Amino acid sequence: MEKGLISVDRWADGSQAYFLTHLHADHTEGLSSTWAKAPIFCSRITAKLFPFKFPNFNLSLLHVLDLGSWHSLSLLLPSSGSKVTVQVMAIDAHHCPGAVMFLFRGEFGCMLNTGDFRWEINGERAKLGREMLLNALKDDVVDVLYLDNTYCNPSYQFPLRDVAAQQIVDIIASHPDHDIVIGINTLGKEDLLLHIANALNIKIWVWPERLQTMHLLGYHDVFTTDTSLTRVRAIPRYSFSINTLEGLNTMHPTIGIIPSGLPWVAKPFEGDGKLFDSLLTSRYNRRKESSRDGKQNDKTNGNLRSVKRFHKYIYSVEYSDHSSYPEIEEFIKLVQPINMKGIVSSSSCYVDPLYYFGRICGINQPSPEFLHQHQKLGRGYTDMKKKRKRVGSLGFHLNRVTVMRRGRRGVKLDENECSD
Ligand SMILES: [Zn+2]
Repeated sequence: MEKGLISVDRWADGSQAYFLTHLHADHTEGLSSTWAKAPIFCSRITAKLFPFKFPNFNLSLLHVLDLGSWHSLSLLLPSSGSKVTVQVMAIDAHHCPGAVMFLFRGEFGCMLNTGDFRWEINGERAKLGREMLLNALKDDVVDVLYLDNTYCNPSYQFPLRDVAAQQIVDIIASHPDHDIVIGINTLGKEDLLLHIANALNIKIWVWPERLQTMHLLGYHDVFTTDTSLTRVRAIPRYSFSINTLEGLNTMHPTIGIIPSGLPWVAKPFEGDGKLFDSLLTSRYNRRKESSRDGKQNDKTNGNLRSVKRFHKYIYSVEYSDHSSYPEIEEFIKLVQPINMKGIVSSSSCYVDPLYYFGRICGINQPSPEFLHQHQKLGRGYTDMKKKRKRVGSLGFHLNRVTVMRRGRRGVKLDENECSD
């Protein structure tokens, strides 16, 4: 596509229409309340949440794209000044509230930008997503797929979110006398929190701004800012740290849970393991026993592998809002793009999805540029993990007074968030 027409999740000058896949901070960098460059297109839920993140934004510049319908835009080719029609469809990305992929078509061909996405292989929602995408594509061939390559490496294999959510429920249930804190971002993981609340018949504490977001999303009964009503608190990810947990444990026994597809566990905790081995382990052992009768439930396979004890107070559970490596592969097989590019990179690393999936696109011989990227992969991959760990860092310093104050009042919201 010619430059100067559209931008997706990029906010530099020079485009005639801008598209926002979702409201996570790493996709809105450069966007502000004073935006006046051009119209922005997004999903209905994103539009609803948008003024909360960008107060005083000129809402006449915000345009809603309903999911599953084609919309036409009339733009001008910068090179010739002639009119060009761009058709676009928003498709559920199953990532966080409001997150969509954008499918574009026009005389430039057909392009699909996934934004951040989770492409689960099983479940009703996954089935609907697949149908919507296939209906949209029909006989079109995707010329370029812009892909969420966050977990584009075979080492990233984690369970369905329902399975991970149940693991978290089990951890909470097996610590009946503990307070529980769960690290979340300013948007996302709502389904997880609802799962926990329903399974345990409890309310969940969130900080005041997060409660407003919950209300905007239509969740009015489950969440509270009253700490006396529940022992389970969802706290901002940036304030989730070893220091926080150690501070909280000076007041009351507290367990921290970090839901993420990222491998937080460089080295699993090697303590006494008694808490970890209690109800949680016995539950899965019981499942294993019953599976010997031939009633094997795939959902429980590898469950313990994806629950790690990071620290004596902290569990890491592989609950991810991004696609795992096998899900990315499944998605690419479905779309069959002619070419693709990853949309996630750090300053030192870019994992080219063509390296792993080029064969699906019929690219069998890596180009020299491609090989170069592969040669850098070893170092780059490590760098990426470092970056990810820094984003979700456990090194945030809090003194005890701050911890106590936050424990009572909640914490202030920070823009520094990752989107896992
Ligand atoms: Zn995101």
